[in-house]
Amino acid sequence: MTDRVQEYEIHHPSFRHLINGNARLHRLWTGAAWAEGPVYFRDGDFLLFSDIPNNRIMRFVPEPYGLSGTTGIFRAPAGNTNGHTRDMQGRLISCSHGERCLTRTEHDGTITVLADRYQGKRLNSPNDVVVKSDDTIWFTDPSYGILSNLEGWQAEPEYGGCNVFRLDSDGTLTAVATDFVKPNGLAFSPDEKTLYIADTGASHMENGPKHIRAFDVAGDNTLSGGDVLMTCDNGMFDGFRIDTGGRIWSSAADGVHCFTPKGELLGKILVPEVVANVCFGGVKKNRLYICGTTSLYAVLTCVEGAARP
Ligand code: MG
Repeated sequence: MTDRVQEYEIHHPSFRHLINGNARLHRLWTGAAWAEGPVYFRDGDFLLFSDIPNNRIMRFVPEPYGLSGTTGIFRAPAGNTNGHTRDMQGRLISCSHGERCLTRTEHDGTITVLADRYQGKRLNSPNDVVVKSDDTIWFTDPSYGILSNLEGWQAEPEYGGCNVFRLDSDGTLTAVATDFVKPNGLAFSPDEKTLYIADTGASHMENGPKHIRAFDVAGDNTLSGGDVLMTCDNGMFDGFRIDTGGRIWSSAADGVHCFTPKGELLGKILVPEVVANVCFGGVKKNRLYICGTTSLYAVLTCVEGAARP
């Protein structure tokens, strides 16, 4: 039974302890063609996110002790970046559709290409990325950025798949999963023993996947398992993040869906636009930033994001 409390849907009583019914959803900025890839910089209290078709990275700076703030262009042109994260040294790691590569923005602002080929062939269009505490970088490589010129440049796939990759510190690129239709968002559990990966294959395949799978991560960073943990009941799961309780906060067409680590739906934060990705931020890590199609939203929660740094 669903109990709707303004912009929340309560699917399990425990969800009432994860959100504050009085906390409203705030639209912080609008004007994107497709907002994606939020990443929070706690050391500077600002958020970066991609506006993929407009080929720019935006930066939102909240006003001190306030909810609203200022949004401006951080980088343009930006190689049609999509997902972002930060490595253990705090550097920005970005997925580039336009350049078909994974990049790192150094502390001095220069950009280093970390990976652009697999077995000598170009990547498709890296979509989302996460860094493990051992400095390995894990990213998905569906073909969205090369299907047309909208989010990159139209081109043929070269290696004949849509893989999930692990990039080791020595530069070795390894395909860790090769059986996805369109691998998309990904995140580790707080103990890093589980890797969750979304498949948005339903976007271009009738009855295609619209689910998140859970993989066991071995000590040597190989994956096993991969069963479907949950299927989206409204649209598709694109990007998502994990809180310190191991719960999964995922994008969907009607907002943000919150699940237990076992895949049980606890509740939803309803958003008036299709959500592509989310990210915890704020100095208490309890503010959920939401990239929803044309807009950036945020809502205060009663949980804390698990992402580092
Ligand atoms: Mg994505």
